[in-house]
Amino acid sequence: MTVLAIDIGGTKFAAALVRPDGSMDRRTEVPVGPDPTATLASLVREVGPAEVTGVGIGSAGPVDVTAGRVSPVNIPAWRDFPLADTVGGLVPAVPVALAGDGQCMALGEWWRGGHGPASRALLGIVVSTGVGGGVVLDGEPYLGPTGNAGHIGHITVDRDGEPCPCGATGCLETIASGPSMVRWALANGWRAAAGHPDARALASDAARGIPVARLAFQRAADALATAILTAAALFDLDEVVVGGGVSGAGDTLLTPLRQAVAKQAGLGFLHRLTVTRTALERDAGLYGAAALVLPREVRPPAGR
Ligand SMILES: [Zn+2]
Repeated sequence: MTVLAIDIGGTKFAAALVRPDGSMDRRTEVPVGPDPTATLASLVREVGPAEVTGVGIGSAGPVDVTAGRVSPVNIPAWRDFPLADTVGGLVPAVPVALAGDGQCMALGEWWRGGHGPASRALLGIVVSTGVGGGVVLDGEPYLGPTGNAGHIGHITVDRDGEPCPCGATGCLETIASGPSMVRWALANGWRAAAGHPDARALASDAARGIPVARLAFQRAADALATAILTAAALFDLDEVVVGGGVSGAGDTLLTPLRQAVAKQAGLGFLHRLTVTRTALERDAGLYGAAALVLPREVRPPAGR
């Protein structure tokens, strides 16, 4: 049994063949060209589709899993794009499943990142140009009726905060996404020590102890902790896995984040929450996409 896993990001598409034992073949990543549908078709032709038993797709959102349609914010050419049907046309006669990229990241971490089966309620968070996420309950992704469960980036953490492009105010994403952190730091006097003032440069300055850069990470960590504890109180989470480009800062983000979670946690059960960094990096999304079309019985979770 081999499935085709596809990860639709805002700037890159990735695909691979994945088997129930977690082996991954022909992993390929391509930049999205001017015609994203053509990029998708050539990627699928290159990686598959010989003898696959299913196709799992994780896509940047918003997604509509019922209709199989996606409208990735960074791919304007795709609005209500029939992604599942398009892939079904490229790989006929097998089931095609679609979920959000954050949900696939969470499911991939649960399956291959050493978190299942001990973790019964896991939240995956992707901190990148936006903030996304997904919840895995008892080994199954909780997608919600439209497929948008896990949108933790749009939990309000500051009612008096900045307007968010989504239409709400003070969303987590307005504080903790890479561009939001950089914007705040620049407005508060940060000048990148070297190169372009992006999240990577901010992380390196924070690691060197530059106060305004450290404060930007502290502020993001405090906001992330608020959103994480909101989710933890709802779902009795036992584990949070943080991925995405900004998590590449490692302990520069994770240390203040763990401290903020411990400090803000109220009820006793919230104190058992553990916060770790992704074990799988960018492969988490591909593993999760694959898991959508691999029956649970044939894919026992990898041990720690
Ligand atoms: Zn928002």
